[in-house]
Amino acid sequence: MKADMHIHTTFSDDGRIDPYEALELAVERGLGCIAIADHNSFEAYDLIKDDGRVIVIPAIEVSSSEGHILAYGIDRDVPCRLSARETIDEIHDAGGYAFAAHPYRWWSGLGEKVTLSNPFDGIEAGNARSYRRDNRSALALSKRMGCPVSAGSDAHTKDQLGKTYVILPDGLKTQKEVLNAIISSPREVVTANRSVTSTLRYGVKAIGLWAARGFKRM
Ligand SMILES: [Zn+2]
Ligand SMILES: [Zn+2]
Repeated sequence: MKADMHIHTTFSDDGRIDPYEALELAVERGLGCIAIADHNSFEAYDLIKDDGRVIVIPAIEVSSSEGHILAYGIDRDVPCRLSARETIDEIHDAGGYAFAAHPYRWWSGLGEKVTLSNPFDGIEAGNARSYRRDNRSALALSKRMGCPVSAGSDAHTKDQLGKTYVILPDGLKTQKEVLNAIISSPREVVTANRSVTSTLRYGVKAIGLWAARGFKRM
């Protein structure tokens, strides 16, 4: 089963995928599971969670003061701008798993030192919007830490959805089974990588957004 564990919808500031469209694309592209990981919003998840064709995991991408953290399987929102350690504690209190999102990405990634020195449940070892080099480093770090891996497209537009995924056993039926499968043993990750061209575009856009927000990290 293919699981794209990092998708943004129109409920993220910069997301352009309607939640129902995300669902249809997931079916079309043969995904058995998706995690909607909007920035501090469960609205898309609430709209599509009961579809039945695709398992939808409740998730959010939290902007900690040290970088982005993915929270899977949580039952409530987690505040932004806490330290990595405080964010992980909040995620655990909410019954979820904390994964270091794209840890090697400039600006929004946690970096190796912060990732290594905090009790993460796992690492996002494939992200279609990361450089190939950064995805390789993330996978190597997960091996070094001996921790579970996740992967996702980080799709903000329709074309990206499903480009990166983690491979899980077939036949999983519930959110809980999916999360257990990810947490219980190392999984294979299939990842696309960001091209140099799109990275340059992304860099310009990210700086533009950052400036518009009064120089606060997103
Ligand atoms: Zn991120
Ligand atoms: Zn993201």
